[in-house]
Amino acid sequence: SRAQAMEVTESPDVKYDDIGGIDEQVREVREAVEDPIDNPAQFDAVGIEPPSGVLLHGPPGTGKTMLAKAVANESNATFIKMTGSELVQKFIGEGARLVRDLFQLAAEEEPAVVFIDEIDAIASRRTDSKTSGDAEVQRTMMQLLSEMDGFDDRGEIRIMAATNRFDMLDEAILRPGRFDRLIEVPKPGPEGREKILEIHSREINVDPDIDFAELAEELDDYSGADIESLVTEAGMFAIRNDRTTVTREDIDHAREKLDRGETEHGVVRY
Ligand code: ATP
Repeated sequence: SRAQAMEVTESPDVKYDDIGGIDEQVREVREAVEDPIDNPAQFDAVGIEPPSGVLLHGPPGTGKTMLAKAVANESNATFIKMTGSELVQKFIGEGARLVRDLFQLAAEEEPAVVFIDEIDAIASRRTDSKTSGDAEVQRTMMQLLSEMDGFDDRGEIRIMAATNRFDMLDEAILRPGRFDRLIEVPKPGPEGREKILEIHSREINVDPDIDFAELAEELDDYSGADIESLVTEAGMFAIRNDRTTVTREDIDHAREKLDRGETEHGVVRY
């Protein structure tokens, strides 16, 4: 099940340019992940250790996975992803071994960016540890901690993780030498939304009269993923109406639909 539990990509198809509204977070990730891969000598020269692990936290659909893929791609590192909830729900009883395999694979593939999505599924504070399921989750987390602790000499492997539930995390994973660089990835403000609208409209035939700045103002509370759905849904309306250009009406239709929580792709807004 090693193959099923891990997504391995030599060079993910995401660039920094594809990410909108979180420039500061991109900069921080580059510093913590790309710089140590590209220029380890500089860290040696200054005499500091790069961060051991980078934890991205914030609401769903804000670009956390994109950031991890982009930094792997732009560092020419292999991207290796594992999802916490799958370890707990799908690969029951195998969590600790899969975590070991994950780090072993990273060592074989280096330079590599290891990305653990939904890390809260294996690293939440214990609420009630009487069930055996909890013991298994606990073992998986202990394996992760021990892999990270024994990590110094593994070379060009960078560890990243993401969560929507920062407040639930066990403090043990945040100690120095573990996930010691925290980067918050918030929902975009109006300017960020405008940038994301532009990015997701690049390949789409959109009516040039649409005022993206004005539209972005209106998309209160939309995440990047919501904006992607909006543009796609608007395109569906254009097709349905036999047009090849997406109009402002299409976008408004798509908005009504998304705001009701129904989409073709079953994407639900948060
Ligand atoms: P989750 O917590 O649900 O895993 P996430 O923060 O990892 O979410 P991503 O998977 O990176 O979110 O984003 C989902 C999709 O939404 C992306 O593939 C992209 O199309 C779009 N998206 C999200 N954030 C941004 C952004 N900042 N700029 C451009 N596109 C974005």
